[in-house]
Amino acid sequence: MNTVLIIGAGGVGHVVANKCAQLPDIFQNIHLASRTKSKCDAVAEDVRSRTGVSITTHSVDADDVPATVALIREIKPQLLINVALPYQDLTLMEACLETGVNYLDTANYEPRDVAKFEYSWQWAYQEQFRKAGLFALLGSGFDPGVTNVFTAWALKHHFDEIHTLDIIDVNGGNHGKAFATNFNPEINIREVTAPCRHWEDGAFRETAPMSMHQSFTCPQEVGTYEIYRMYHEEMESLVKHIPTIRQAQFWMSFSPNYLKHLEVLQNVGMTRIDPVMYNGVEIIPLQFLKAVLPDPGDLGKTTRGKTCIGNVITGIKDGQFKAVYIYNICDHEQCFKEVGSQAISYTTGVPAMIGAEMILTGKWTGAGVFNMEQNDPDPFMDELNRRGLPWHCVELTEEQAKTLKVNQQ
Ligand code: NDP
Repeated sequence: MNTVLIIGAGGVGHVVANKCAQLPDIFQNIHLASRTKSKCDAVAEDVRSRTGVSITTHSVDADDVPATVALIREIKPQLLINVALPYQDLTLMEACLETGVNYLDTANYEPRDVAKFEYSWQWAYQEQFRKAGLFALLGSGFDPGVTNVFTAWALKHHFDEIHTLDIIDVNGGNHGKAFATNFNPEINIREVTAPCRHWEDGAFRETAPMSMHQSFTCPQEVGTYEIYRMYHEEMESLVKHIPTIRQAQFWMSFSPNYLKHLEVLQNVGMTRIDPVMYNGVEIIPLQFLKAVLPDPGDLGKTTRGKTCIGNVITGIKDGQFKAVYIYNICDHEQCFKEVGSQAISYTTGVPAMIGAEMILTGKWTGAGVFNMEQNDPDPFMDELNRRGLPWHCVELTEEQAKTLKVNQQ
């Protein structure tokens, strides 16, 4: 009898709870805990109305290791699914080690006071998880997550060596608000305002945020969008585990409206993460901004359009140049119809559920801390097709791959 404990009842937690409940043979007992219990109760009610499955809810502060350990001891799960915030990764890994429970998350650890995300902190737990015989799966969302699995699958089936990797994340959705972020605003804004880093000939090279951009036409009439090169965490693990990669870049689409608002917010100091005194109280401007922005969990009702996220990969097969584009297209309105969330939460929550399924069914096994690409991609790719995120793979010419013109046949 499998028991899972989901931590975090935001946009992603809502999808994970619903998708787990759709597979009662694998997820027999579902518990959901977060800082605010009323949010867990609202998710539980939504899950019950859609699937008839009851999930048990709890309140917990995941920054508090003893409190989390006490909750885990009460529930006795096989797996903890961390869809709270990146700040909680280390405390939740500690709690899992103390209680002998497997661990999964969707974003790498980031300290609150520095906008710096890297895997070093979590990779440092490798020996402890290995010795305890526990499996820790890092970054089981879409990007990181599915993009890592796409790369591993391409290496297994299409290449002898991968040389270049371009991950392109387009959100062609429109939520109808003046300004909103698609997932947690604090995490999102910290990510997009950080300096850009990309991998080139053995090292990460830094350039100014948003300084490199180009137009990208998605397949299947999703549209043409301006994509901006930025740093994204999966590049760190992918260039480590696939050392033949000479160049890795990550691109994300932003609308002119989003960039205009972001520039003003930055210029007036609202994206600062250092404390500021206001009326005798210390506040962090970015956290205050999060409080006044729309809740990404509420955007599903109004969001129309599609996301298109995929990898352009080049390399060598049997001594010849080869290039492929592997991608998924996801419709915001269909996601809302199925689970009551927009596609950004959906494309993160579905892979989190599939990662959990891989661990609970023993398709992915091992002891230690693992990134997605270190596991067999095939069963995960099959499940993407069955659980709501079907993918396509097309071959590209060298010119198409170099210019990211994936749509011209
Ligand atoms: P939300 O802000 O919507 O939800 C976060 C949830 O975590 C809230 O329920 C919040 O509770 C809870 N939480 C925060 N701090 C604590 C704490 N100390 N103890 C217990 N619960 C806590 O975020 P999202 O759902 O949008 O994102 C969830 C995660 O998914 C993030 O880590 C994000 O970076 C990641 N993500 C990954 C993607 C990928 O493709 N890999 C893409 C998008 C997101 P409360 O409401 O009370 O504050």
